[in-house]
Amino acid sequence: MNATPVIAIHGGAGTILRSAMNTETEARYHAALAEILRAGERILADGGSALDAVTEAVRLLEDCPLFNAGHGAVFTAAGTHELDASVMDGATLDAGSISCVTRVKNPVLAARRVLDVSDHVMFTAEGAEAFAQAQRLEFVDPSYFRTEARYEQWLKARGTSRTMLDHDAQTFAFSNTPPEDDPIDPAKKFGTVGAVALDAHGHVAAATSTGGITNKQAGRVGDAPLIGAGCYANDATCAVSTTGTGEMFIRMLAAYDVSAQMEYRGVSLEAAASDVVMNKLPRIEGRGGLVAVDAQGNVALTFNTEGMYRGYARVGEPPVTAIYR
Ligand code: ASP
Repeated sequence: MNATPVIAIHGGAGTILRSAMNTETEARYHAALAEILRAGERILADGGSALDAVTEAVRLLEDCPLFNAGHGAVFTAAGTHELDASVMDGATLDAGSISCVTRVKNPVLAARRVLDVSDHVMFTAEGAEAFAQAQRLEFVDPSYFRTEARYEQWLKARGTSRTMLDHDAQTFAFSNTPPEDDPIDPAKKFGTVGAVALDAHGHVAAATSTGGITNKQAGRVGDAPLIGAGCYANDATCAVSTTGTGEMFIRMLAAYDVSAQMEYRGVSLEAAASDVVMNKLPRIEGRGGLVAVDAQGNVALTFNTEGMYRGYARVGEPPVTAIYR
């Protein structure tokens, strides 16, 4: 008998500093996460695929301005938005991904179309937009992605020539030491999004979407759209979606490493996720976390930052959401 279907999501590792969080904001995050989990849970309860559940959950996360993906994405150093997304089906190892798009309303839907209809795995920039246009996906004016909170955040980062993890309490993406002149109001830091799921047929899938890192150089691509780094799914092992300092997740092939450790070392999902996030990534100053599920219905929500917006829902049970450790 297959395990009970389950979906897990994240809205970014790192979070608003606990000291800067207020009850009302915290409640909004919990409510948004729970609502999106329930939407994914409904798809799984109706016998829908893990692939459909993660695509829909990430679409909803993109539409929610609280999170750094789609509406509410961070600004590049050029004052623009460049969005990346990916999706992978553990049943077939089919994958789709797009990077550096500026006008596609829901990047994850473009990634999903790549998976569904294209012989290729990844499209970037103008080519990705041409593909999305040919697929009749919804386009928006770039101003759609802008939110006041993100703009203020960028104004503070701009001119420092430093990139930063948009949501990380420690602010600077490539330094473990928070500088005294922290240019980002801790209350204005939010996160990247992702989802993983196991369906009633025993298949797993993963999806990830992001605006990237505040003040990133134009053209910079992070881990989110890279299969194996920010997203991976294989029925034989697990499905993984990551968030954090993308460059380190790329160098560590973080998502695939969780799967590989299960496959080659025969360790549990929990042990593999913990080794990657708590042991291997910190060795290269990689900060962030991941959500993962395996075909037995085990769930890992692992992070090495102060918090990670996260939650999971098993079919028939109420969603569980959390922010801090
Ligand atoms: N991993 C994302 C990137 O590097 C950023 C994040 O998760 O906040 O683009």
